Amino acid sequence: MDDSHHIPILFYVFAFLALAYFFYNLRVLLAVRVGKEEKNRSVGWLSRIGNGLTFGVGQRKVMNRRFSYATVMHFCLGWGFIELFFATTVDFFVVRGWFVELLPGKDTPWFAALNDLGGVLLFAGLLMALFRRYVNKPDPLPQSGFSGRGNLLGDTGILIFLLLLVVGGFLAEAARLAIEMPPTAAYSFVGLPLAGMAPVEIWAAIERSLWWGHAITSLAFIALLPLTKMFHSVAVIVNVALTDRTQHGLVRPMHVSQLMEDPEADLDDIALGTHQAEEFTWKQLLDSVSCTECARCTTVCPAYATGRPLSPMKLITDIRQDLYDRTIRKKEEVEDLLGGRIQVDELWACTSCGACMEACPVLIDHVPTFTDMRRYLVLSEGQPPDQATEALEGMTNRGNPWALAQGDRMKWAADAGLDLSVMAEKKKAEVLYWVGCAGAYDPRNQEVARSFVRILQAAGVDFAVLGEEETCNGDSARRLGEEYLFETLAMQNIETLDQYEFERIVTPCPHCMHTIGTEYKDFGGDYEVVHHSQFISELLLSGKLKLNGGSHEEGKVTFHDPCYLGRYHDEYESPRELIEKAMGGKNRLVEMEYSRQSSFCCGAGGGNMWYDMEETDRMNLARVRQAAATGAGTVATACSFCMIMMDDGIKVEGKEDSLAVKDVAELIAEGLEVLGS
Ligand code: SF4
Ligand code: SF4
Repeated sequence: MDDSHHIPILFYVFAFLALAYFFYNLRVLLAVRVGKEEKNRSVGWLSRIGNGLTFGVGQRKVMNRRFSYATVMHFCLGWGFIELFFATTVDFFVVRGWFVELLPGKDTPWFAALNDLGGVLLFAGLLMALFRRYVNKPDPLPQSGFSGRGNLLGDTGILIFLLLLVVGGFLAEAARLAIEMPPTAAYSFVGLPLAGMAPVEIWAAIERSLWWGHAITSLAFIALLPLTKMFHSVAVIVNVALTDRTQHGLVRPMHVSQLMEDPEADLDDIALGTHQAEEFTWKQLLDSVSCTECARCTTVCPAYATGRPLSPMKLITDIRQDLYDRTIRKKEEVEDLLGGRIQVDELWACTSCGACMEACPVLIDHVPTFTDMRRYLVLSEGQPPDQATEALEGMTNRGNPWALAQGDRMKWAADAGLDLSVMAEKKKAEVLYWVGCAGAYDPRNQEVARSFVRILQAAGVDFAVLGEEETCNGDSARRLGEEYLFETLAMQNIETLDQYEFERIVTPCPHCMHTIGTEYKDFGGDYEVVHHSQFISELLLSGKLKLNGGSHEEGKVTFHDPCYLGRYHDEYESPRELIEKAMGGKNRLVEMEYSRQSSFCCGAGGGNMWYDMEETDRMNLARVRQAAATGAGTVATACSFCMIMMDDGIKVEGKEDSLAVKDVAELIAEGLEVLGS
């Protein structure tokens, strides 16, 4: 039957107006065009489609065990919404007579049942969302009621609006079923019982009003969508499709030195770093536009958890407000982004641990964006955190943040009678052992360095160190926003490394590994850098290294995942394998509540090693308590910064008698046996 006469011409007029207003309001998405060009981050069409379908439509990262309630809630909302969108489109096509032979009619049994299921899912999701906002609200979740944060209808208003939409849809369906009573009506498992709740005469009297009510609500929803919080359903798909996942979490190179040396550059007029919307790239702005304000990033943020003045969600949405103020709202007086909406302490509170990026369901890259703002504070305003200036000066003048003598770089080995080959003499080695500043100067990490040398020697590895030629890799300088210093150190190290022949660099520090292995590429340094836990695992696997009795530690061991090894390099297994081997089996390794991807930062990353923040708890103390709660007698780690922070935390917490901290290399070194000896 041709149903087209059921749709009054007035509906098409309203639909046209609604769509026109929807497209007009899409300017909130197009506003990101004021952003700067995105260099070297292009995404092919296949990846775009793949990302859009998996992370957008499929909501792959929404599913997260830590957020089980929100996962179920969003599953219901998302799939209910998608189904109803599908059903409405099919209905419209059928009514217009388009592709009818390919499409199910509205009374096709499976289609009728599916449509009711879509409505039920959306209804359940909406009730769960209201419950979460009013009865069981997590602290970090924002609550703007019926307006606020630039969202039309606010957080609650949009939920109530959608409830009206779903209920209106069911009532309109019930009226149609009551009047037409098609033979397949029983498949409409919500519509049919509703239809039975009133006599057919009543349904007949109100059927047109219900139909129009539902039609107007639906069209209003479409028209206003870009102005409401629900706009994320569109923006997220665009954002995830255009995300270059190979660059996830990586800060963008600035090439400050080139800029400084460019005779054409007007240095007085160049903003180094970002302090307002136009200075971010369009993709960073798109990130801010597509934030769903789910607060997962803030919930997992260790800075937020320890009372620091930081909510990553707030910072991302502050950028969005700045963008809209400058573009859509065209305000003459716009509140400063840095020092206004975003206080400098919020930026310095971040440890760049990456927990926010790991948790974000829509692939937002918080840390590179925060780093760009730190760059502005340091390079354009000359304002690093006060206490960090000493470390920056140390890196500048003496090549290490402790400002200790470069001539003492090999003391850790000499004091232990270790006579190590240095590259300046050896020129060529299978492995270049990058010791790192902590391994060279910090007493606790010196012990780790010596343990690792024992392992290398026991396995007969052909290795050498740079010795006094090694200098700080620049990680802390870069995270602190001192990009010029970072570039200087990077270029110096690249020049040194390029003089020698080696297959791989092995380092015990994930920060050195990340900076040299991943970030030096932008400056011409292309090296294979592996973490010592990965290298030791290989040695054990190949049989070059064998253990006799295992570690001296008694009882259980827990492992603290370093952020730059786990979240930044996806390496969770190698250190655990080493612990299991050293401890003689799996059953002695116990996991903390927050481990692997959900690990809790030690508090030293992002340059935080070099300054203190105001906080209600200290991050390293919180982590030590989490380790102690497992009942383990040892917390193992695999990072120079983590070692210092955990060691300090154990002392401050007074747990020296019950908890020890060891690097995985130390556990292995305790149980060494040289093959054939
Ligand atoms: S990187 Fe870590 S500390 Fe910084 S905002 Fe994200 S979760 Fe918080
Ligand atoms: S940044 Fe991501 S995790 Fe944080 S509130 Fe926005 S969408 Fe949620």
